[in-house]
Order: sequence, then structure tokens, then C-alpha cells
Amino acid sequence: MSIHAPRATKIVATLGPATADPAVLERLIKAGVNVVRVNFSHGSADEHTRTVSLVREIAHRLGRDVGVLADLQGPKIRIGKFADGQVTLANGDRFTFDIECELGDQHRVGLDYKELIHDVRAGDTLLLNDGRMVMKVDGVTATTIACTVTQGGVLSNRKGINRQGGGLSAPALTTKDMDDIKTAAAFKADFVAVSFPKTASDLYMARELMRAAGSRAVVIAKIERFEAIGNLEEILKASDGIMVARGDLAVEVGDAAVPALQKRMIRMARDLNKLTITATQMMESMIESPVPTRAEVSDVANAVLDGTDAVMLSAETAAGKFPIETVESMVRICVEADRHPMIPLERELMNRTFTRIDQSVAMSALFVAHHLGIRAIAALTQSGSTALWLSRVDSGVPIYALTNDEASRRRMTLYREVHPIAFEYVAKDREGILVDVEKKLVYAGLAGPGDVIVLTIGDPIGKSGGTNTMKIIRVGEQPYSGRPAG
Ligand code: PGA
Ligand code: MN
Repeated sequence: MSIHAPRATKIVATLGPATADPAVLERLIKAGVNVVRVNFSHGSADEHTRTVSLVREIAHRLGRDVGVLADLQGPKIRIGKFADGQVTLANGDRFTFDIECELGDQHRVGLDYKELIHDVRAGDTLLLNDGRMVMKVDGVTATTIACTVTQGGVLSNRKGINRQGGGLSAPALTTKDMDDIKTAAAFKADFVAVSFPKTASDLYMARELMRAAGSRAVVIAKIERFEAIGNLEEILKASDGIMVARGDLAVEVGDAAVPALQKRMIRMARDLNKLTITATQMMESMIESPVPTRAEVSDVANAVLDGTDAVMLSAETAAGKFPIETVESMVRICVEADRHPMIPLERELMNRTFTRIDQSVAMSALFVAHHLGIRAIAALTQSGSTALWLSRVDSGVPIYALTNDEASRRRMTLYREVHPIAFEYVAKDREGILVDVEKKLVYAGLAGPGDVIVLTIGDPIGKSGGTNTMKIIRVGEQPYSGRPAG
């Protein structure tokens, strides 16, 4: 029997018009998508609810656990509309943002985000359309911001506007986000991403609203504001994970600062037992092309080497011409990059601090995994927290998280190196249950006779937060026949 190590790094794919066909969605999931992202910046609540039930139906049919990430729009700070839909501006042109302007022209346009007037001063730099166009602020009045275009181009309806260096006062949670949290709670989102948080309190508020709506989803803070960088540690502590949201972040801090920030953010997140998603333009050219550029291949591989839990696709899958090919390419790049250890394990493991019993067992399992050359770690876990700790250190050993709790399994779809497996407790005693676990792994082709595997369990078995036992077993030579229990 051939034993295959599954891909450690997870893939998040944004859904959109290009994935509306259920057959495409099914192929996307089969190609290796672990988590789908529904983007509340587009589409209606009903559309998202229908999309999610379709995803769940397909995942169920395929016997796969697929997580659902609800990404809130946040305060998208945008300009208004033009009479002709768009204008072309040249370097040196004068252009004014005017909150009283209904329909824009060559000289002025309105603002959806009217508070911009209070947030900018003469001398500031404004970036439009994700930084593709740049303007210098000449002067501000009670209703206008007069600018000179320093990087021209085409400006069309409702394009985003950012101030270089941050400082925009818009709150992270809009009234639309509050409604969308209810929608996400109703369709049982596994992850909720909060856009543009500045401080920890934005995350506390989001979690409070989620709790009130009956959602216990994992909270992901999108790091895409200048201010969030200074508050990174408190934001991490207030959330369950972060998204390195390179699109808006690059506009706020300057694109050249982003690669080093990405490394720092991932490092800090792992140290605090938090998750990371690296996002935006990872395979951008594949919106139009069936193959990635060399630079994109390197970018995805480097995010893996940085230790990200997941890499994310945006327009490549939501609106691109080659959604399936893009996921297949990303899988290929991740599998190759996964083989290279990130950081010497000894240092990472020895420097970790922990006080809990369940965390201590997780660290011991990793220590054994490192020294005994084991095939796999199998964690019988209810909440998934043991699996999270196991995955915060790069051991190069797959972690199989066995649980009968479907919500826990879907949460773990994002954890690097963790593979959720459905497991029902059939046997009555502990020894019987452990034999069932062993059989399950062998039957699935994940371990074979002679392999050493480490099991982490709670005693009594099946209780949340109760991991207190580690057992090292050598898989028996006896071939297993028939479908295992559990
Ligand atoms: P968005 O967030 O795709 O919702 O803008 C990601 C980013 O800004 O990188
Ligand atoms: Mn963004």
C-alpha cells in the first residue's frame, strides 16, 4: 500500500460569477480547495446563502470537509459615479472631490465616503483604484478636496480611495456589516473576516455581534490599514487569526514594505497560536492566462515557506477565465514548497511556553514526532484546540484530527498540516477506540504496517479540552480487513 502525505498548506478560493455553475464549484473542490470565501462586497445576502448551501451539498456528496469564510465588506472608502461611467486623467490635471457633486465629469466627482473631507490635509497623497492612480492634495474646504494628478489613468464609478499613511476615520463595522454578520450566522459560516480593523476593539465588537447572532465562527482580522500594523499584537490577541490583505495594505503602507511585513505577521501569529491567510494577487495573471508567471510561483511558495496556514485566491477563481487551472497550479506549488522545513524545529519547540496540560501533551507529541521518525500524529479532539497547537510548530508530520463534531472539522480546514477526519465513537472502551483510530488511518491509506504513529487523547475519552494522554503505537502487521468502525 502506498502511503501519501497530504498537502500541508491550505487553499482558500473566492467564489463569484466564474464559479456559479455547480459543476465548476464541484471541480474546484475536487481540485483541492479547503475553504471557500464568500465576499460580501458583492452580491446579496440571498445569493450568498444559496451559494453556501450549494457548497455544503457538494462537499457532503464528496465526503469532504470544506470551510466557509464570510468576508465582510467593511468601510469601503469610495468615490461616487461619473455621468459617462469613467474619465481619463493625465499627469498634472487638476481634479476635485466634491461631496455635493451628484454625477462626476473631467474635473470633479462625488464621494460615497463623505468623511474623507475631515481626514485629509493639503500635502497628503491619495491613492485610487488600489493605487493605480495617485493624486496630491492641494487644498481642502468644507465640501471639496482639490488635487493634482501625479499618476494618471482611467478612473471609473465607485473606485476605492485610500490615504497614504492611513488615518481615515471610518469605523471597521458598518451597518451593512452588522446585517451581514446575521446572514453569516444564519448560514453557519465557519470563519468571519473583519475588514479594515484598526484596533483590538474592532474585533471584540465583531465577536460580540457574532455571538449575539448565534455564531461561534473563527474571527479573522484583515490587516490592511496602516494603524493595524502598530496594533498587530493586540489585534492578534483579540482574533483567532489574520489575513495578510496585501491589496489594501500595499496602498496604505507602500508596496515595498509588504513582503517583510508578511513575514513578521505570520511569525507573530504562529507564536501566539493564531492562524494566517496570505491573500491578494497571488496568481493574478491567471485571471487571463492558463499558466502562472515565475514571480507568482515564487510568491505562493514563499508564503508557504513563511509558514502561512493558507494561500488565498481572489478574482482568479471568482471572475477569472481559468479557476480550475489556477487551483491546480496552486496545489502543485504548495505541495512542492511544503517539503521544505521553514524553521529548525528544535529552536521553535524549545522556545515555546505553555501552561496548560492539553498544550503540554501537544508539544510532547511534536517532540516525539521529531525524534522518532513517525508517520503521523493522530489527535482525538473535540474542539480542535490540540490540533491547532500541534500545527503551530512545523514538524513536517501530518496531523490527523479525528472528531465527530462537524463544526470542529470545518474549522480545522484552515489549519496548516491538519487534516480533519470524521470519527464516530463506536467501541465502548478506550482500547477499542484506539484500535478503531488505527484501523481508520490504515484503511484511508494514511499509515501502514510498521509505521509508528503518535496518538493524543483525552482520558476520559471524548471530552472537550481534556487532552492529557499521549500514546505511541506501531501499526500492526495484521492486515485489516473490512471497513473499520468509527
Ligand atoms: P479585499 O481584501 O479583497 O476584500 O479587498 C483583501 C486585500 O485587501 O488584500
Ligand atoms: Mn481589502
